[in-house]
Amino acid sequence: MNASDCIFCKIASGEIPSHRVLETGDVVAFLDVSPLAPGHTLLIPKSHCESILDAPAAVVRLLSVELPGLARSIMRATGATGLNVLQNTGRSSGQAVFHLHIHLIPRRDGDGLGYRWNAGSYAGGEAEAMLSKIVGELRD
Ligand code: AMP
Repeated sequence: MNASDCIFCKIASGEIPSHRVLETGDVVAFLDVSPLAPGHTLLIPKSHCESILDAPAAVVRLLSVELPGLARSIMRATGATGLNVLQNTGRSSGQAVFHLHIHLIPRRDGDGLGYRWNAGSYAGGEAEAMLSKIVGELRD
């Protein structure tokens, strides 16, 4: 997607209105228009990148700096007792807007949110094989 067609670029620039929770020179946080819970907030960089895969480390750092304070504020404001910090990367993960964004979703016991966490297990040797593959990619 071209940045000029990007809905979150338009939110960042103010061309499309949003309920802004926080704004710095580099990042914006605003209420999700279709919240999974009241206070569901999206944190985005103002500069366009599609996901965590093409984001410069400096951009991720800018988001990370704001994350703890934003999380604490959302929890205090909503009275939530938990928070999911979620970043969907790619269509298979559920990403629908291709401008990097981090979801902060307030949670409470018994709120009925959540997804199936079908935990698996590794058979003999599989964890070691996976480990060497990932570590090999890190070294490349
Ligand atoms: P994702 O599935 O991770 O790409 O999430 C995209 C999120 O953006 C969804 O939760 C949408 O509800 C939210 N969203 C889409 N358009 C807007 C908008 N104009 N203002 C606020 N949130 C939006």
